[in-house]
Amino acid sequence: MTDSDLARTGWDVVVVGAGPAGCVLARRLADDGRRAVLVEAGPGRPQPVATLGLDTIAAAEEPRRTWAGLEVRDAPDGPVRPYRQGRGLGGGSTVNGLLLTRGDRIDYDRWRDEHGCAAWGAADVAPWLDRAASAFPGRTVPAGPVAGALAAAAAAGGHAVGGASTDQDRLGVLEARLAIDGQRRRSAFDAYIGKGAAAGRRAGRVDDGGPTVRPDTTVARVLTAGGRARGVALASGHRLMAPLVVVCGGAIATPALLARSGLRARPVGLVLRDHPSFALTLALRDRGDHAPVEHRVVSRLLRWSSGPDGSGDLQAFAVDRVDRAGDGRPLAVLLVGLMAPTSTGSVTVADRSEGPALAAAGADVVTGALTTESDRVRLRSAVRHVAGLLTSGPFDGLVEETFVDDRGTPIDRLLHADDGHFDRWLATHPGPYAHPASSCPMGPESAPGSVVGAEPGNMGRLIGYEGIVVADASVLPDLVRGGLQLPVVAVAERIAADLIDTGP
Ligand SMILES: Cc1cc2nc3c(=O)[nH]c(=O)nc-3n(C[C@H](O)[C@H](O)[C@H](O)COP(=O)(O)OP(=O)(O)OC[C@H]3O[C@@H](n4cnc5c(N)ncnc54)[C@H](O)[C@@H]3O)c2cc1C
Repeated sequence: MTDSDLARTGWDVVVVGAGPAGCVLARRLADDGRRAVLVEAGPGRPQPVATLGLDTIAAAEEPRRTWAGLEVRDAPDGPVRPYRQGRGLGGGSTVNGLLLTRGDRIDYDRWRDEHGCAAWGAADVAPWLDRAASAFPGRTVPAGPVAGALAAAAAAGGHAVGGASTDQDRLGVLEARLAIDGQRRRSAFDAYIGKGAAAGRRAGRVDDGGPTVRPDTTVARVLTAGGRARGVALASGHRLMAPLVVVCGGAIATPALLARSGLRARPVGLVLRDHPSFALTLALRDRGDHAPVEHRVVSRLLRWSSGPDGSGDLQAFAVDRVDRAGDGRPLAVLLVGLMAPTSTGSVTVADRSEGPALAAAGADVVTGALTTESDRVRLRSAVRHVAGLLTSGPFDGLVEETFVDDRGTPIDRLLHADDGHFDRWLATHPGPYAHPASSCPMGPESAPGSVVGAEPGNMGRLIGYEGIVVADASVLPDLVRGGLQLPVVAVAERIAADLIDTGP
């Protein structure tokens, strides 16, 4: 089906972006009997081999499934650094770390109590998280030596042991549940759209009642007339007309697309939230028992709290085998993350600039990572805590050296530094987490910062317009503790159900 064939077809809804949210919306709206087309800027199938298995490092580095040239700054006047976001069918769920988490009850209760989203407290979200989890039943994998040592050291240090990463509110050493079937990644595209729609697309028809799927197709602008959605303009110049447009480009591309389309009744991109992280590189003694390189995946998760309130705002996990150092020693990595940060950044785009091939190009993305004292103190304490675990018995004979960058700077240099130097090091050596959210937040219409509705009947609807819905990570009122895949799927499921209940 060519772009002009697509443009001639009458659509009820265009869904922009085939990440977790877009796959949910396209599937649910197609199942509701609507002629739905799911338009994705990145490539379709076949999936590159690197994204199929348990090697999450190779998946995240797969150039055909991430946005080339995407850069962010952590502070407004800071240097740019590369930033990873998924691209292609499945979006982030095709390249992410596979770790399934739900966020804690405190997170959703804060959506209700602090962000004014009355219908989004923990008890309200729970059934939607259950629905999301049923699409990703998940599996655990055995711990490699480094993950095992981290678990043992944490247990010896007084952390609880037991439970799974998908348990809410549970601290201590948890088994990581992964979005896999057997040894194979289960992306959101696998879970929601599957082979039927892909085959139908190739044949130019939909053969399972699902949406028509259109990869390699960038949406340049959302079209409106008199404040109502008319459809979308593709980068190719063709137009897909529809009375309903659902934007699911992810927390960076979505505000960029809305701003580029002139849809600024509300402050899109004013806020951006992300989890700051830091990586410790471990040079291992070559004992011959290291995890195979194709199993570069998290198997155990340590969650704990920076303070006495038990809020579980810190996490750490090991990826057992990353690579070999120049001297041939196997390397592992230990990632430490702050999961309830207070720092915020922004996504800024010039008005109505033309959409180039890179959906987020032209966007000035500032993560704001570690710009508050509270965040600096908590991430510093987390790194010190993990460094302490590394000196304990379970790591004896396993780790020869620990580095705080990829140039071989030993951890002692950091541990002996004063707090100011320590903080500057963390701020200038950001870890690889990339969990952007909240750039088009849900909220009450009366709150000037709300970009989309949060109440039943207008969930995800872009305030100030008719027929435009946003349903991806950008609408999360705030981050949750842990990864975002299940929470994003849960929110998308709920927005889809609300749309179906209330009509176009
Ligand atoms: C490296 C990495 C590791 C992660 N690890 C984990 C983890 O282990 N566990 C976890 O829970 N979460 C993890 N996450 C986060 C999780 O994957 C994301 O939060 C989730 O994918 C967000 O879903 P989304 O639908 O909002 O957006 P995305 O997944 O970003 O999907 C958006 C899609 O829209 C497409 N698009 C954008 N603009 C346009 C346009 N103009 N036209 C057409 N298409 C467009 C993009 O190409 C993309 O495919 C990770 C993310 C990354 C990047």
